[in-house]
Amino acid sequence: MASANVQPSSVAGIKTSFLATLSRGQGPKVGFLAEYDALPGIGHACGHNLIGVASSAAAIALAKGFSNFSGTISVVGCPAEEGGGGKILLAKKGVFHKLDCAMMAHPDCKTEVIKKMLALIEIDIEFFGRASHAAAEPEKGISALNAAVFSYQEILKMSRILSRDSRVHGIFTHGGSKPNIIPPYAALKYYVRALDMDYARGTIQKIKDISLKEAKKIGAKVKFTLNPLSYEPFHPNYALANIFKRQLKLLNVKNEQSGETERIGSSDVGNVGGLVPTIHPSIKICDNAFCHTIDFAKAALKPRGFQGMIQAASALALTGYELFSNPGHLKKMKAEFLQRKRR
Ligand SMILES: [Zn+2]
Repeated sequence: MASANVQPSSVAGIKTSFLATLSRGQGPKVGFLAEYDALPGIGHACGHNLIGVASSAAAIALAKGFSNFSGTISVVGCPAEEGGGGKILLAKKGVFHKLDCAMMAHPDCKTEVIKKMLALIEIDIEFFGRASHAAAEPEKGISALNAAVFSYQEILKMSRILSRDSRVHGIFTHGGSKPNIIPPYAALKYYVRALDMDYARGTIQKIKDISLKEAKKIGAKVKFTLNPLSYEPFHPNYALANIFKRQLKLLNVKNEQSGETERIGSSDVGNVGGLVPTIHPSIKICDNAFCHTIDFAKAALKPRGFQGMIQAASALALTGYELFSNPGHLKKMKAEFLQRKRR
């Protein structure tokens, strides 16, 4: 006897999330991540109009096409991927703990199955000085902007000697209000990324040390605010990825796999991959445009984007079929997952 359940919103207290499950006895609990979000000004430049639909379509195709399956098919509505960390919040509330594995596919300019992703920590640095008339009494002021500029320069020097897999990128979010006022307040925002979370944390500490030192030199004060939603590094499950790869071959979709750490960013799917075996393959929808550009947003709306979405949904559904058909797959995936955890 099958039981279907749809929680249309407010999963784990997130209004824009949902959870749909179809259960039929004992067996693998297969999760499809319907990720959605958009980017300010450039809309679906990350192709989320295709991602969420591909995962949902895969689950529907699997449930309808394989009505004898034994286990559970879930679609998890994962909002706010572009910095909002929807999956981190869902993970904290135990939504993914109920799954044996999770999968989704992301549109791209290349089809690649195995890609790692970088941990990401966000930090805001606020500098506090003292205002004064910039022409009449400059000596009475303490420029928070100078403290921020000196810190930025030293952080830039430091970032050049970090490991090749690290990224440190910062911007000025506040630099004063008028040139004739010595700025009493200035602020920087940084993203720090690395393949290893401890390395990223170590870099954050270096940034803090530099900012404190530079501020102290001119008598300014500093305040640090860390975004509590850190993105974990993503490690794909190779056993699950190999099943997905075979389905691509079956569908005549060319796999253009390059290095596992080439052209990578960060995603909150890393926080899922740390809990259950997970894959996040890329499916080609265009030739050259890269995510987060207007050209990619256009590609995501074209017939080729739609075709990529169908390929993604088909490969995901067929991967689910393999998991239900052969319980040995799950054992292998879990063994690999636990071995990596121990490392
Ligand atoms: Zn994106």
